[in-house]
Amino acid sequence: MAQDTTLDFLGGLRRTHHCGELRPGDVGRRVVLMGWVYRRRDLGGVIFIHLRDREGVTQIVFHADGDPAVHARAEQLRSEYVIAVEGFVEKRSADTINLNIETGEVEVVAEKLLILNTSETPPFPMEEHIDVGEDARLKYRYVDLRRPHMQRNIMLRSRISLAARDCLYEQGFLEIETPFLAKTAPEGARDFLVPSRIQHGTFYALPQSPQIFKQLLMVSGYDRYFQIVRCFRDEDLRADRQLEFTQIDLEMSFPQEEQIFEVVEPMVKKICAVAGFDVPTPFPRMTYAEAMEGYGSDKPDLRAPRFYPVAHLFPADSGFSTAGMPLVAVHIPNTGVISRRERDELKAFGQERGLRVLDDVRRLDRDFAEPMARVREVCGAGENDLLILAGWAGEPKGQRPEETVYQACGQLRLYAAQKFAERHNLLDPRSLKFLWVVDFPMFEWDNEENRWAAAHHPFCSPKEEDLEKLTADPAHCRARSYDLVLNGTELGSGSIRIHRQDVQSLVFDAIGLSREDARGKFGYLLDALTYGAPPHGGIALGLDRLVMILAGESSIREVIPFPKTAKGTDLMSEAPSIANPRQLRELGIQLRHGH
Ligand code: ASP
Repeated sequence: MAQDTTLDFLGGLRRTHHCGELRPGDVGRRVVLMGWVYRRRDLGGVIFIHLRDREGVTQIVFHADGDPAVHARAEQLRSEYVIAVEGFVEKRSADTINLNIETGEVEVVAEKLLILNTSETPPFPMEEHIDVGEDARLKYRYVDLRRPHMQRNIMLRSRISLAARDCLYEQGFLEIETPFLAKTAPEGARDFLVPSRIQHGTFYALPQSPQIFKQLLMVSGYDRYFQIVRCFRDEDLRADRQLEFTQIDLEMSFPQEEQIFEVVEPMVKKICAVAGFDVPTPFPRMTYAEAMEGYGSDKPDLRAPRFYPVAHLFPADSGFSTAGMPLVAVHIPNTGVISRRERDELKAFGQERGLRVLDDVRRLDRDFAEPMARVREVCGAGENDLLILAGWAGEPKGQRPEETVYQACGQLRLYAAQKFAERHNLLDPRSLKFLWVVDFPMFEWDNEENRWAAAHHPFCSPKEEDLEKLTADPAHCRARSYDLVLNGTELGSGSIRIHRQDVQSLVFDAIGLSREDARGKFGYLLDALTYGAPPHGGIALGLDRLVMILAGESSIREVIPFPKTAKGTDLMSEAPSIANPRQLRELGIQLRHGH
């Protein structure tokens, strides 16, 4: 319990500085600081307080031989009390300078102390280096958010949003809001439904993204739209997913892919600069097909070397891979000689994914000296590097079978890269490798529904030269879509859209959406396309993930002020919660027995 302390009023007292501000140049100044008691050392004759606000920490000194009443009041201070201090800035003696805090060359000698509020003993230590269980942090989020490391993250997030806004305004974008109470917009996830009180039995869907609205804004002639906007997707949560998350969402009229990139690159560059990173632009571009053949992934992590398809270097009858399927050389630098156990682990990992892993390089070198020399040359693999070959063990699988093989090899590559990360040091989180992946397939095969589904969303335009493949060869029909990728993470996706109703209808046909269903779901979009829709396109970048990476965190919960747990609960407010019966009656909702 907080001890019984009479509290002071703030009255007309004003702050003169924040707690991270004072420097030797301020010595002699009379200042007023306000904040929270961070650390406290009571040496009897003198009490030292570290006073903290979001900007930093300043040491305050209370001398018993100054004003005894002030010193006595300072004795009552405890952790996280809220105080105002008035006093003089003094230079610290050389032996007491504290280089750990930015104000560490000075201190404030207090002449006046107001205790504005007490605090219960905090549920966990405020020191940033102390690890605290996440449940406690989320339950007392308001205290957790006061810890310096969280304040740094949330302030970084704010500065990043500002940088994005500034950059987009500079480029002629308008910030326009779109509704949260909306009709379902397809991004492939489950909708959150909101029951209508006025029309029982009907529901709004919280938008999975403003996709359709931003397209409509282009039809309406707004030319360049953006919004830093919340999206809602009822998905199972992982470290980098939340039920609600934020996108930097934009759309423009008359663009080619390159124009979108030209808008986004300076924005991303500026955002990175805010976080202290200098990233070179333009970012490399890579087609989806190249990404597959080099990395087995549509979000390649460029920090580790690519792999190479090498089947053509070996005799056709070598049998390393099921006939016609790729054989891949995975190369990880500077691993040194790896142990028997490590080799077995790599092999097991690959085999579980259907690969035939050829890890006995010495034997390969003996039996296939020439091809192996070529493999080394192609990969640039040196003496001290790991080299393994991986082929496909079973029947070809999937609609694009080579891709299945490449993907398994891609996983093996990442697994190996991570396994030996400490030896090659390539996966340094401070090395930021951005790239654009372009020309994604239009469709992915949906095994459950046994039909093609839109790979991104059904409004992506097919590539003009692939229009016929929409029906003739959907597996190889490419979309004018692109992803921005950073260090193996997809930061955002976008596309040039379909702006013609005839093409839109063909795409709905291709994914087996009947005309009626399409009208029921997106009739208003289809209509809008008939009223002078300009060519348009856009992208949305995940703000949470971007801030997470730039803040050096590994969970987006570290950069979201009030996140939910993996079960979708807010431990602080205890949402979701039971609705009271009157609310349900008004909504015309009756719960099934047992709920
Ligand atoms: N609406 C898309 C998404 O949320 C982004 C876009 O295509 O602009 O992923």
